[in-house]
Amino acid sequence: MANKKYNFGAGPCILPDIVLNGASDAVKDYNRTGISILEISHRSSEFENVIHECQSLVRELLAVPDNYSILFLQGGASTQFSMVPMCLMQQHKRASYLDTGYFSLKAIAEARLFGPVHIVASSKDSDYDHIPYDYYIPGDSAYFHCTSNNTIEGTEIFTFPETDVPVVCDMSSDIFSRQINVADFDLIYAGAQKNIGPAGLTLVIVKKALLQRIENLIPSMSDYRIYEAHNSMFNTPPVFSIYVAMLNLRWLKGIGGVKQAEQNNIAKANLLYDVIDSSDYFYGLADNPDRSRMNVTFKMYNRERENEFLNFTESRGILGINGYRSIGGFRASLYNAMEISGVEALVECMTDFMSKDQFKSFKLKSNTI
Ligand SMILES: *Cc1c(COP(=O)(O)O)cnc(C)c1O
Repeated sequence: MANKKYNFGAGPCILPDIVLNGASDAVKDYNRTGISILEISHRSSEFENVIHECQSLVRELLAVPDNYSILFLQGGASTQFSMVPMCLMQQHKRASYLDTGYFSLKAIAEARLFGPVHIVASSKDSDYDHIPYDYYIPGDSAYFHCTSNNTIEGTEIFTFPETDVPVVCDMSSDIFSRQINVADFDLIYAGAQKNIGPAGLTLVIVKKALLQRIENLIPSMSDYRIYEAHNSMFNTPPVFSIYVAMLNLRWLKGIGGVKQAEQNNIAKANLLYDVIDSSDYFYGLADNPDRSRMNVTFKMYNRERENEFLNFTESRGILGINGYRSIGGFRASLYNAMEISGVEALVECMTDFMSKDQFKSFKLKSNTI
């Protein structure tokens, strides 16, 4: 292979080599069937085994209780922005949303198409640099929606509200990165391409009782109950994406599951935040207690030198750390498959950049003596 590349992109994200190799083998010949995973019938017993194993791995790795269904959908998390209100918004009831940034706002905009939306709190006034915790969820809300990890701003919710209202959570960018208590939520959704597998698959974990309360008339492809009744195979499911997700979850189980991944992710994030905090070149964008372990956002005090730093990182094989276009600066995404050696390479790059400078200014000074 060419020089080692470290991909810190926010999504689609990196997958472990063992998963990529398994995926490429299956594209050529799936499990010695003589045909490709891309050609295999979703009604075949081979694929039934795949979808079953994938579901079992989700259930095991997140300790999903029996009264929850695990569904595989398409359309990304963005489709969930409308599917959630379409199914759960009830007549004469509003839905409550916590506004923590870009993806929350997108969810809110879609929900407004289906009924009244109440924003319980927003951190917009401070550029979404923290998670608001001081808010009240009206008891008559159809549901409460939050975004557990704000992929663009780099904040993460570490304490979820206690409420009798059904809690819906967009966990696209931190699912499987830390232990959660599924019973604290009524519906969890996540686009696969951050911590689960390739794009094209959306995971939904939903409390069965919540689906029984749906009263609205809903098109089949937007109705969770249809997916549940047909074991996520009402129409042709994204076979390849489910297969690769299964390989990735097998890998996750092999390294010690979500508990071990969480330890690794804490170590990786601490390593990077420590360098940011102790430097006089870089500063983090998110408030300390709420900062994300998955997406580390930072800028340079001297914004004019950001391009120079970006080029320097690229020359070292570090890719995808430019910040989201409307925010600028940098964002390093540390999803499960990013190894600590990748973060070490980034941190070394930062310290080399700074010491190269000191060397330069030292030379300048000594020349003037
Ligand atoms: C990436 C992302 C989305 C959008 O996901 P798609 O699968 O591209 O629709 C939504 N929410 C969060 C938190 C994300 O990180």
